[in-house]
Amino acid sequence: EHLSPATQRKHSKQKFVADLSQCLFDFVIQLLPTAEEMAVKEDVRKLLERLIRTIEPDSRLLSFGSTANGFSLRNSDMDLCCLIDSDERLAATDLVTMLGDLLERETKFHVKPLPHARIPIVKLSLDPSPGLPLGIACDIGFENRLALENTRLLMCYAMIDPTRVRTMVLFLKVWSKRRKINSPYQGTLSSYGYVLMVIYFLVHVKNPAVLPNLQQMPPLRPISKEDTHLGGYNTWFFDDIELLRQRWQSSNIESVAELLIDFFRYYSRDFLYNTGVASIRAGLLKKESKGWQNDLSGSRYNDTRERNRLCIEDPFETDFNVARCVTKDGLYTIRGEFMRASRILAARPDRAIVALAQLCE
Ligand code: ATP
Ligand code: MG
Repeated sequence: EHLSPATQRKHSKQKFVADLSQCLFDFVIQLLPTAEEMAVKEDVRKLLERLIRTIEPDSRLLSFGSTANGFSLRNSDMDLCCLIDSDERLAATDLVTMLGDLLERETKFHVKPLPHARIPIVKLSLDPSPGLPLGIACDIGFENRLALENTRLLMCYAMIDPTRVRTMVLFLKVWSKRRKINSPYQGTLSSYGYVLMVIYFLVHVKNPAVLPNLQQMPPLRPISKEDTHLGGYNTWFFDDIELLRQRWQSSNIESVAELLIDFFRYYSRDFLYNTGVASIRAGLLKKESKGWQNDLSGSRYNDTRERNRLCIEDPFETDFNVARCVTKDGLYTIRGEFMRASRILAARPDRAIVALAQLCE
């Protein structure tokens, strides 16, 4: 057969993309937590809940973050939130101290209460055991109802298109950890930040969109302000996923690999880092319109400037920049990594698995 060079290139690209999608599924599947790990974690949650109830009888301990939203990797830490359904509850500071003492006495956890942190929490860790070869790390916070809601929002987005959304998110989490750009304490971005970047890309950048905007869909029935607001923030979103699956179908049929390649390209060259704010709720916003500009001069603003290099609006806490920890150097490194990934994928090595290994090196 005599195929023109252009046709040959097209075929080799199609083959690469198909192989890469398969490799991504296979890669991500082996990183999922085992059923045993999930069961142990649930046992730990129940045990901790029982102990907390000896201090606050009307409390519930709920899990949020990756353990609850379907974006969990093997050995990921456990985020727990204690809700107290009573009007006369202890202050978080006192609760943290008391709970710290109790857990120290009654359990094998290593306990570190942080009663005076901006958000008071108790940090726990457990040494490795047969069921949990890498041990367990867990944070218990209090009354963080917004975190429970944003966890539910991310879970709903994952449920709309489980294969593509989950594969992309899980891959980016592993990739960002392996490339060491997943540490807010060192000036880069949290997992939560990367997940929001993926959802933003699938809702607002891709055309046709892969995901609908759950916060802007018309509600099925009238809703009152009391039902939808938490601490002054509107937390409403369309959460009837069964119904949504019947009524809404994306016309975007790109494969995971195509989406990932495009994701890296978009965040390495197209996203407007200097002026733009990525908002899942409202699309691309301007830093100016949120008072998040980073070009203010004068020492008084130094702090603000450093805080708004990369702007990602929290879906509910809209005055909160999820990426505020990202420094100038951190952003430079992150963008460098997006470019590196783009370059590797554009080079299309013979075997997709080689590209994947190189990406996560
Ligand atoms: P990992 O598996 O790496 O722990 P994760 O999905 O649990 O990832 P985290 O970054 O640990 O993500 O965040 C857990 C939860 O904490 C999020 O779902 C969110 O509710 C809350 N959270 C984390 N970081 C922020 C942040 N910068 N701003 C607001 N909420 C955050
Ligand atoms: Mg977590």
